[in-house]
Amino acid sequence: MAFEGLAERLQGTVQKIKGKGKVSEADVKEMMREVRFALIEADVNLKVVKGFVKKVSERAVGQDVMQSLTPGQQVVKIVKDELTNLMGGEQSKIEFSTKQPTVIMMVGLQGAGKTTTTGKLAGVLRKKHNRKPLLVAADVYRPAAVQQLETIGKQLSLPVFSKGTELSPVEIARQAIEHAKEEHLDTVIIDTAGRLHVDEELMQELKDIRALKEPDEIFLVVDAMTGQDAVNVAQNFNDSLGISGVILTKLDGDTRGGAALSIRSVTEKPIKFVGMGEKMDALEAFHPERMASRILG
Ligand code: GDP
Repeated sequence: MAFEGLAERLQGTVQKIKGKGKVSEADVKEMMREVRFALIEADVNLKVVKGFVKKVSERAVGQDVMQSLTPGQQVVKIVKDELTNLMGGEQSKIEFSTKQPTVIMMVGLQGAGKTTTTGKLAGVLRKKHNRKPLLVAADVYRPAAVQQLETIGKQLSLPVFSKGTELSPVEIARQAIEHAKEEHLDTVIIDTAGRLHVDEELMQELKDIRALKEPDEIFLVVDAMTGQDAVNVAQNFNDSLGISGVILTKLDGDTRGGAALSIRSVTEKPIKFVGMGEKMDALEAFHPERMASRILG
């Protein structure tokens, strides 16, 4: 499970200061040294670590802590608040269009979990938001991606728009949006092609799909296991294409959690969902506060 190491270290640090009736600057300094180590060990982006430590320190040595009746607990609360802020503060919502259909583009590198997540997301939208999704198989380059989405559609009893691998992804997406209008399917989720690396051709294709009907959401699917790389990929996609949110997959795996803690502050785009397993129901809305509580105990 993600964050185990980080949680263990931070909880140890936090316990030490929690019961203190008096907190000195030296106490805060010592604690922040441990927090810094814990975050770096969890593969959190260095700049992010520095910013985080600075914010917590400033608030912790401020008047409100020193004069508080429970300074130790106050410091812990500040750490939790700032951890929540780091991950995006409030939980963010999904945008739906008033002009049918809502278009959601799923983008990301090959292997990140895009096709799987397309299915999972459709399931969530149907169950929690009462939507009628159409899954669109526009990943025509990865062998078997089209079939994989068709299988997922069958499994979930959801319609899949697929045209094999002959047409261009842009043409498939265009026809799919028309099809959704005719069939009164209110949410089109497009599984776009991924590559092994971010390249110009991939970005151009995604821009062409984006130009068909301004997407309400462009979700970047990234693999949490790739740590700092996930953060770089997110920054890349955001700079070239513009994304509206991130879905972090494989958070059930043995990841140190650095990506989850860095992505928001590096890209300024929220993590909207996290993938917690291979099964179709293993997608959860991302709640920064709950995640911070999970980490700090
Ligand atoms: P794509 O190339 O981006 O479309 O990737 P796929 O959707 O085919 O996923 C690649 C692999 O990652 C598959 O074996 C998925 O079952 C697996 N996968 C996707 N999401 C998760 C997740 O949240 N947790 C785990 N453990 N595996 C996942």
